[in-house]
Amino acid sequence: MSKRSSTVMAANLNTKKAKHWSLGLLESMKDPESIVKETKQAVVIKDKYPKAKIHYLVLPHADISSIYKLDKSHINLLIEFDNLFKEIQSDVELPLKAGFHAVPSMQRLHMHIISTDMVSPCLKTKIHYNSFTTQFFRPYADILEELKENGCIKKMSPELHKSLMSTELQCNQCTYKPKNMPQLKEHLLTHFK
Ligand SMILES: [Zn+2]
Ligand SMILES: [Zn+2]
Repeated sequence: MSKRSSTVMAANLNTKKAKHWSLGLLESMKDPESIVKETKQAVVIKDKYPKAKIHYLVLPHADISSIYKLDKSHINLLIEFDNLFKEIQSDVELPLKAGFHAVPSMQRLHMHIISTDMVSPCLKTKIHYNSFTTQFFRPYADILEELKENGCIKKMSPELHKSLMSTELQCNQCTYKPKNMPQLKEHLLTHFK
């Protein structure tokens, strides 16, 4: 391969990298196609890789990187998140839940609003599934409570994070324990009908 073509390839790789979802989040906040609702303090966007029938993200306009940067001054912001959640829930039939990942993967604070069916072609791995169905998913009410009580959010230990991610698969709607992801996905459909 010539030096020139390898340089071109490297440039292409970089463009691809820049479009990674974790970096594209701030762009998506401005993209009318992905915006569901917007207020003075926050914006609701569609998750690009939904892990259930409905999957949105609520983000502040303010540059707050994660739940670990929250203090008591952000309680009003969180109440606005909850109001947005309630508005969205009143618009749809599916039961929704709201919460934050204990170890966030993206550069802006975001609350997930997700329907409990977990039926989606983007749901592919055990980690995807466990990050919404174990304690790794920190319910909105818990975060608000902890913030009111302690003024900050305590980090999850790497050991607990690891063990939650490797938790045995378990249906989030009954006691069924599938052996693998294909079995789980087939089973989840039976609840959705
Ligand atoms: Zn997240
Ligand atoms: Zn089940």
